[in-house]
Amino acid sequence: MAVGLDGETLDFTLESISEFGRRELPDSMLIELDERDEFPEEVVRRMCGEDLGIQLLFVSEEHGGMGGGALDVYRVCERMAAMDLGIATSVLATFLGSDPIAVGGTPEQKDRWMRLIADEGVLMAYGATEPEAGSDLAAMKTKAEPVSENGSVVGYRLSGAKQWISNGGVAELSSVLALAPGGPSWFVIESGTEGFSHGEQEDKHGIRLSNTAALFLEDAYVGAANLVGGAEGQGLIQAQQVFGYTRLMVAAFGLGAGWAALDRAIPYSAERIQAGGPLSEKQGYTHKLIVPHAVRLEAARAAIEEAAERIDAGEGSLNTEGAIAKYLASESGNAAADAAIQAHGGYGYTHEYMVEKIKRDVRITTIYEGTSEIMEMTIARDRWQQHLKTRGDHYHAAARELEALESERPGIGAATTGLALHALAEVFEAARVARLTRNQHVLLRLGHLAATVEAAAALARRAARAATGDLSPKASRRFDASALAAIGRVNARDVALGVATEGVRLITGATASGEDDSGALASRIGLPAIQAAQAGLLADMDAVADALYDRSKPER
Ligand SMILES: Cc1cc2nc3c(=O)[nH]c(=O)nc-3n(C[C@H](O)[C@H](O)[C@H](O)COP(=O)(O)OP(=O)(O)OC[C@H]3O[C@@H](n4cnc5c(N)ncnc54)[C@H](O)[C@@H]3O)c2cc1C
Repeated sequence: MAVGLDGETLDFTLESISEFGRRELPDSMLIELDERDEFPEEVVRRMCGEDLGIQLLFVSEEHGGMGGGALDVYRVCERMAAMDLGIATSVLATFLGSDPIAVGGTPEQKDRWMRLIADEGVLMAYGATEPEAGSDLAAMKTKAEPVSENGSVVGYRLSGAKQWISNGGVAELSSVLALAPGGPSWFVIESGTEGFSHGEQEDKHGIRLSNTAALFLEDAYVGAANLVGGAEGQGLIQAQQVFGYTRLMVAAFGLGAGWAALDRAIPYSAERIQAGGPLSEKQGYTHKLIVPHAVRLEAARAAIEEAAERIDAGEGSLNTEGAIAKYLASESGNAAADAAIQAHGGYGYTHEYMVEKIKRDVRITTIYEGTSEIMEMTIARDRWQQHLKTRGDHYHAAARELEALESERPGIGAATTGLALHALAEVFEAARVARLTRNQHVLLRLGHLAATVEAAAALARRAARAATGDLSPKASRRFDASALAAIGRVNARDVALGVATEGVRLITGATASGEDDSGALASRIGLPAIQAAQAGLLADMDAVADALYDRSKPER
């Protein structure tokens, strides 16, 4: 069954966002608002109101929304982030704030609050983080004391503080996680409730167009009807249930912001003349500052798109895949924005150029909704379990699938990705034999390697589908099949070499001298074959550059 919007409605929504941005938020205005550290409340309210109605995307049709699926939400988040990540964050905060209700609310609660969001575009905040409980939410201290009348609970008094809350100073409604006697639970609280207040807007490094503020609860009273789901102790489960989905949103933010930076560097370099010609014709420039970043962003896109399609197909919340997508897209978005400053030279270092703002904005994506390190841990723990459960065959089995794909459709990097997967399986196994995952550094680096290799596999599958005209009608079509194949080949080589070399270093580095023979390990991992697979890399990078600069390929 098709989930979410049809392709035409999605295209129309994306174009409406871009058109709204061009009309209402030109670069000069974004830069001014950023300098003034101003949240453009009226613009955001219009986006979540009659002008655009973006909030309808994440409200079900039953409650007056459009019932967008994960793929729709990713495309819309990417487009909003390309416009401005602060504004996108404000819209995301309403989505996050309504999440506990959407997944865990009673029918009455959904009817009440989801309708309010759909019909009136109210802004919400999501209050989970506390001053001393960030990555480790279990350390939270905010309390919910039941208030009883005639032996039954009629309400709760909330006390505590929430830190770094997006929309904290402007939301009409907030979802707040608090410790009730039955365990962590979500409560919905209205602004203006006695004992509920917020701090000043934080003076941030980036996303200065978003409002971030602390929330204070001093015996703030909410009725029992505001306990989400009507039962205590469901809070962390409700938060977990949507992680795959919400992390995809932040992944799409990293992707959108990273591409927004490259999309400024690319035309700039086509115009900027140095040493007698445009920078875009200098390989030392394009192959360092542009091509590798476009490749990494597209690998992240493949991970996002595949996870979104699987969520829409009903495969569950896919928390690990969401973590892979978020980790890679946010890290590549940051790297791309940094390279875009370099690509602009001295101009890129000034406030006048958007790449400088994008670089500061995208920085948040590796921090909120779970830091990169927490993503690495999430990925590593899950894949480690898979490795053990399958007696080491998990990634070998994935490699065999890629080998089959290679014989069906050569030239998309599937064979090299197969080598990377086999290598990863061997690195996991060497870590198991030497009991190295007791070292947190090793465990988290395994998470990093797993993320890069799994995204390479997703990219090969995406390139294969592009070649057979089999991509979802709602998928991004930025590159044609032949460019996507070249991107897949460049990425696969990079990832395979990364696993092999970092894998050997990781294992050898964690063992005392002489305990393992790094030469033998390198050959088990398949390093020589991976090195041989680097042949043709430069020509493929040339092909990617040609696609990015819309140059027809020279006769070869
Ligand atoms: C602009 C902004 C907007 C935000 N919006 C919201 C919001 O709307 N709602 C909300 O609830 N929260 C929000 N947050 C909070 C955000 O999700 C947290 O900042 C984030 O989860 C990290 O928590 P922390 O800041 O306490 O850092 P910490 O958890 O203290 O982490 C500090 C560093 O230590 C690392 N680390 C932490 N634990 C471990 C570990 N076990 N092993 C190894 N390394 C570790 C982290 O990766 C990080 O590098 C926002 C934050 C910002 C800055």
